[in-house]
Amino acid sequence: MRIDKLLANTGYGSRKEVKKLLKSGAVIVNETVIKDAKEHVDPERDMVTVNGTPVEYREFIYLMMNKPQSVLSATEDSHQETVIDILEPEDAVFEPFPVGRLDKDTVGLLLLTNDGQLSHQLLSPKKHVPKTYFAVIDGEVGDEDIIAFENGVTLDDGYETKPGVLKILKSGIRSDIELTITEGKFHQVKRMFEAVGKRVVYLKRISMGSLELDEELELGQYRELTDEEVNDLK
Ligand code: URA
Repeated sequence: MRIDKLLANTGYGSRKEVKKLLKSGAVIVNETVIKDAKEHVDPERDMVTVNGTPVEYREFIYLMMNKPQSVLSATEDSHQETVIDILEPEDAVFEPFPVGRLDKDTVGLLLLTNDGQLSHQLLSPKKHVPKTYFAVIDGEVGDEDIIAFENGVTLDDGYETKPGVLKILKSGIRSDIELTITEGKFHQVKRMFEAVGKRVVYLKRISMGSLELDEELELGQYRELTDEEVNDLK
């Protein structure tokens, strides 16, 4: 890997800033000062220091965000703010992307990583990774809905959903529920409720596979996953 890429990926600034740093003689690889940005290093074997501090290389980053409303779960958009726009530059340099999508008005757990293999595993329809949502429903949710979701409902485009597990937390003219599904069709939770004549007015994802939203995270905040959380997801 090129030394400028390694340094940019480990938080030493943009490629341009890294070039300056190299020129200043601050970067030493195995006891030799390296000034050429094109120089190749092996991050696993070479000892790289910047002003005497060892550079800790890592390839992957895993972030859990409590996605706020009105931010897109996309990597870029010409008009609207995306979840990538709210990352700190030292995290954005790893070029993470959101694992799956949440609607613009959906809040809650969003995993961001640059680990394509893990992302693929979590999103593969064959893996049936469960995702749990908390939702507020306009309307009284009852046992008939639990049964309907258990059997699968027919969405507006004719698609028959796989069974979903519905838990009613509070039933009334506005109901609080938790729904666990193993698929990720477009607007799936909202459309499942539409299929039973009800409307989702608030939607928050609270878990994905083994990963649970850290309730300490305010909307728009994020943190790195612990090693245990990453291992459990794999
Ligand atoms: N289902 C929805 O309807 N919207 C989401 O954002 C996620 C699941």
